[in-house]
Amino acid sequence: MAKHIFVTGGVVSSLGKGLTCASIGMLLEHRNLRVRLQKFDPYINVDPGTMSPYQHGEVYVLDDGSETDLDLGHYERFTNAPLTRECNYTTGKIYLSVIQKEREGKYYEGRTVQVIPHVTDEIKAAVLRLADDDVDVVITEIGGTVGDIESLPFLEAIRQFALEVGRENCLYIHLTLVPYLKAAAELKTKPTQHSVGALRQIGIQPDILICRTEHPISSEDKDKMALFCNVDRKAVIEERDKEYSIYEVPLSLVSNGLDEILVKRLGLKSAALDITDWRDLVDRVRHPDHEVTIAVVGKYMKHRDAYKSVYESLDHAGIANKSRVVVRRIEAEEVTGGGADAILGGVDGILVPGGFGMRGVEGKIEAIRYARKKNIPFFGICLGMQCATVEFARSMLNLDDANSTEFDKSTQSPVISLMEDQAYVNQRGGTMRLGSWPCNLTPGSLAHKAYGADLIHERHRHRYEFNNSYRKAFEENGFRLTGMSPDGSLVEIIEWPNHPWFLAVQFHPEFKSKPTKSHPLFRDFIAAALERREGNRAEADSR
Ligand code: GLN
Repeated sequence: MAKHIFVTGGVVSSLGKGLTCASIGMLLEHRNLRVRLQKFDPYINVDPGTMSPYQHGEVYVLDDGSETDLDLGHYERFTNAPLTRECNYTTGKIYLSVIQKEREGKYYEGRTVQVIPHVTDEIKAAVLRLADDDVDVVITEIGGTVGDIESLPFLEAIRQFALEVGRENCLYIHLTLVPYLKAAAELKTKPTQHSVGALRQIGIQPDILICRTEHPISSEDKDKMALFCNVDRKAVIEERDKEYSIYEVPLSLVSNGLDEILVKRLGLKSAALDITDWRDLVDRVRHPDHEVTIAVVGKYMKHRDAYKSVYESLDHAGIANKSRVVVRRIEAEEVTGGGADAILGGVDGILVPGGFGMRGVEGKIEAIRYARKKNIPFFGICLGMQCATVEFARSMLNLDDANSTEFDKSTQSPVISLMEDQAYVNQRGGTMRLGSWPCNLTPGSLAHKAYGADLIHERHRHRYEFNNSYRKAFEENGFRLTGMSPDGSLVEIIEWPNHPWFLAVQFHPEFKSKPTKSHPLFRDFIAAALERREGNRAEADSR
């Protein structure tokens, strides 16, 4: 029977609950346990797919096409646990299912449908759905902060859960903040006491406290929290801010004894912990041999999480190339009006990520033109590929008004357009081309060289596509279409061969990169950037 770990958060949001859950999953896997991870989000949207990146940060896409919270990205980068649409539930998704059942009329047999027990039952069923026979531990993260009205049904459900499967099979971890008060020059434990108080009022006594802090927590403060929060002293775990990388989190949890406590408390039979691979990884992050600067030219640059997986993938590629990757975040709008040189001068590579909407598109196109003409390694992703297509059509095919019909419906040169199956879609939410799609690679291409394979699978999230009626014109002018859907109907990868490294993809490779295994396209992009950097340096030295 699977054991359950529930992770709640208190005091403030953005404590890194997702990272902590991912780290716990990683540690348990490194003890040879089989883990599943899941997140509950208290908002009412059915999934984050309809939300602006400013509101929510990145929408993380799974193989099965579900649009999920970005914490699932952490889960996937830290563990090998399979993720499906069963791994992310929002209040909206839970209620939708309850309401659908009520409308069907056969489930509730005429009863009044209520939060308790019907909504809480639906939540408990979602937890149990992951607890298959081949699973040792299910880790469930409750989004939001204890004390929010919206998270109450989820907290009530996980309280009830212990009554059903036995308290000894459940473990409650509460993540809190222990803030440093400058004026008093000390750490404060009171917010943690209050937050645990609120949790206990709901009926949940946490077994473990993980305390986020900027400074070391003294033994006395740990004693105090243990006493006031009714938690075993050894189970008050410090999680200090990391100096170099988020990949240090599991190491610090281990040094504070968390994995031992977890297996003991849940009575898990597990192998000894072996995290040599992870220690090596952190060592490489800490001691890079080289450095490259990559410009990411996008639309949501001020929001740190809007391109989360892209930034992570760049880091992974850095690790694979023994390099530190310095990212220059550039608002695409600033590149318009001939300012490319001033803004992009000196970078070793340019990446244009995905996006929606008109704002900044002309800046992205200008950045791509700059990369193409100045022989700067270029990597385009989704909208980045669509912009590269428009740039090429305008510059090399003399189609001055070339555009995507997303931005100019009446263009005479719709090089990016809607395919038939998207043309009549007017409902939002889960209606794009989503999830994993196969793609054949052309031998001899940069893509084929990177993957070392003829057939790949990558994740998509877009409506618009390369317009097939322009294929011939592009190819006749030296553009290479090097990735195709197996039936030949969809262009997935484009390359410009007269260049050190110019490649763009219609899919989102950033969803399949791991710190221990960089995505091949990111890896080769950074390698090309490094080559340019080293070449530039050699040239400067010889002057
Ligand atoms: N807006 C574009 C489309 O829908 C690109 C989407 C993306 O970059 N994810 O096709």
